[in-house]
Amino acid sequence: MNVLVIGSGGREHALCWKLAASPVLTRLICAPGNGGIADDAECVALDVADHAAVVAFCRGEGVDLVVVGPEAPLVAGLVDDLEAAGIRAFGPSRAASELEASKGFTKDLCRRHGIPTGDYERFTDAAAAKAYVAAKGAPIVVKADGLAAGKGVTVARSVEAANAAIDEAFGGRFGAAGAEIVVEEYLEGEEASFFVLTDGRNVLPLATAQDHKPVGDGDTGPNTGGMGAYSPAPVMTQAMCERAMREIIEPTVHGMAEEGRPFRGVLYAGLMITAQGPKLIEYNIRFGDPECQVLMARMKSDLLLAILAAVDGVLDKFDLRWIDDPALVVVMAANGYPGDPKKGGEIRGLADAWAVDGVTVFHAGTKREGDRFLANGGRVLGITATGPTVTEAQARAYRAVDLIDWPDGFCRRDIGWRAVEREAR
Ligand code: ATP
Repeated sequence: MNVLVIGSGGREHALCWKLAASPVLTRLICAPGNGGIADDAECVALDVADHAAVVAFCRGEGVDLVVVGPEAPLVAGLVDDLEAAGIRAFGPSRAASELEASKGFTKDLCRRHGIPTGDYERFTDAAAAKAYVAAKGAPIVVKADGLAAGKGVTVARSVEAANAAIDEAFGGRFGAAGAEIVVEEYLEGEEASFFVLTDGRNVLPLATAQDHKPVGDGDTGPNTGGMGAYSPAPVMTQAMCERAMREIIEPTVHGMAEEGRPFRGVLYAGLMITAQGPKLIEYNIRFGDPECQVLMARMKSDLLLAILAAVDGVLDKFDLRWIDDPALVVVMAANGYPGDPKKGGEIRGLADAWAVDGVTVFHAGTKREGDRFLANGGRVLGITATGPTVTEAQARAYRAVDLIDWPDGFCRRDIGWRAVEREAR
């Protein structure tokens, strides 16, 4: 089977690494890929926004299956266009991608189907939004409706901060994504990510994870795409996973199907585990990055077969296996990130890092020049380790980090601290 993976991040490296291990695979191509992905797949420069070009490429190269990593091509309808051309594709349709593309859509879906989430209203007008904030009081959360690369959310501790966020969104800070906003009840609790695989009807839980968004140790500083993650999330006990499946995931998948937008692919629920139980914060319509790296490190089953079962609507016949050991990923980013990252520096010591017991090095923003690897992005590497405990996985990951010689890079030194503290207790 010939497979094309779309994307260029650490998530796609983890997917390619796992797909490359499948006995069913003949040829693996990645567009555009990165320096590390080139070890597992043929990297091709393909304009992913040009759907006709992707279709023509698939026909020309005999691609049997396309796996789409990031949200943007899903929201742009790449899966619809591939399927219309008779090419199997993994990921939700344009219509089902509304779950990530519009926070208001998702909140309304929750309301229609009784899915637990924070109380909210949608607004296209600042005065009405501010009147709602005045009535509800702080803390309160203001969100741009559309895709804003993780920057469209303000957790406002005061009415003034909420009003400023409202003005900012309607002032055009997020472009069209902020033309509508959601103002939402502040939820208190511990956050966790819950990943499932669905064929539109059947749902298989994948695994849980927790990530670290802030750039600095102790969860300080500006938010990033994610500086690290670990799986499983200790707060997601078996009972909590079952409850989240029953109260949140299944009603969503069935609700989407009933409403004529069956969701096929990976559904990633951002949950708040509150005193009343799990509540939905948001949906993403694909694997998280860097959560995908820890999920792939823990997945025992053949990913390609699982994806094919989802694409073909036969997930009910599929059984997914995981290793019990936790996994943890430390993201190494280029100095300047999340602002303007320093590019071009050489990264050495990658082979030594790989050689540490239980460690896999996933590349995100790297490029290859001959046999050298150069930094080529904000988040550059994902040092991923498994171990019998999170504490041991963390120790292995940092042992590998310390073997990497890259003066322009940095990482957080406390990834997994919550789970490590729990283990110490
Ligand atoms: P990301 O790309 O980071 O997932 P996003 O822009 O899609 O972000 P959300 O996940 O909805 O936005 O919100 C970002 C963060 O803001 C959440 O991870 C959570 O920490 C916080 N947050 C969002 N909604 C709430 C809420 N109702 N109560 C408390 N915190 C919230």
